[in-house]
Amino acid sequence: MKDSFGRTIDYLRVSVTDRCNLRCVYCMPEEGVESIPHSQILTFDEIHALCAFMARYGLKKIKITGGEPLVRKGIPNLIAQLKSIPGISSVTITTNGVLLDSYYHPLVEAGVDCITVSLDTLSREKYQALTRRDQLDAVLRGIHLAQEENLVKLKINAVPTAPLDGDEVIRLAQFAQNHDTDVRFIEVMPIGMGTQFQAVGENQVRSILEERFGPMTICHEVRGNGPSVYYSLDGFLGKIGFISAVSHKFCDTCNRVRLTADGYLKTCLQYDTGVMLRPYLRDWDEAGLFDALTRGIQAKPKGHHFEAHEEFTDREHRKMSQIGG
Ligand code: SAM
Ligand code: SF4
Repeated sequence: MKDSFGRTIDYLRVSVTDRCNLRCVYCMPEEGVESIPHSQILTFDEIHALCAFMARYGLKKIKITGGEPLVRKGIPNLIAQLKSIPGISSVTITTNGVLLDSYYHPLVEAGVDCITVSLDTLSREKYQALTRRDQLDAVLRGIHLAQEENLVKLKINAVPTAPLDGDEVIRLAQFAQNHDTDVRFIEVMPIGMGTQFQAVGENQVRSILEERFGPMTICHEVRGNGPSVYYSLDGFLGKIGFISAVSHKFCDTCNRVRLTADGYLKTCLQYDTGVMLRPYLRDWDEAGLFDALTRGIQAKPKGHHFEAHEEFTDREHRKMSQIGG
């Protein structure tokens, strides 16, 4: 599948639920968001049918995300289903880690290719302030289990927010010191609640890490699904990555589209441009689905305009928890 700018689309991020057991300040309002009614949520069979269809046209990689994907029952079953699709080379999951210790082995048995845990701080007070829940111990249990067992690749995603705490950056990076765990720093994006935060630039984080651990050298091997740039640090088993959509725009190489839990194919994070696929999945209509997919992908915008502050009409109205990151 190619869009109208010649970019190959081979990566689908599937949000399996818009519900979450945390309320991260840059993602979801304290009171939560009105949930999509159950009747409108895609079933696992519908998700599988769509992915199998897209795989015929070049889909290779799938990310399971949310809301919090592990609050939906049976996610390992879905992963096993998706793993069996010919042409799909990678099925990964991004989770807040709260339920990871009980799901780690089922996810591994299902064949997941990578588990990414989102964690922004190791301070219990800060974690509570950021996520509005007291779940740091549960997340750390999951991460330690995953590091000890080491049965599948583990990554940690951190979204630093201003004012930047250098010690925190160092402690998070240390997850990559003695284990082959990659730690990635993500700039907060002005989507939904994120508009109220200022991105902490990659350069700021890098200089803290270089001052403490020495020079970082760029790593050219492919380590993920997309735009993260990875660096090696002397003595570290894992890599340090940066996903810097604000300071280092990477739209020219964008390879992804997103599916919301109710079946909307979103083609760019910043805009609500896309196409509703649920009707074609619910009453299987292959010709209609092909036409809708083609239309959606052809209309994928050239890029975001995070840097522009003026309003525009097709700005995304969903919160990040309804998109999946
Ligand atoms: N609940 C899961 C989790 O937290 O990993 C999956 C969904 S969450 C929306 C996916 C990722 O998006 C998380 O790593 C989260 O930190 C990130 N995220 C949420 N809002 C963001 C924003 N405004 N800018 C950048 N990243 C954001
Ligand atoms: Fe939930 Fe993930 Fe959003 Fe946090 S970032 S509120 S864990 S969906």
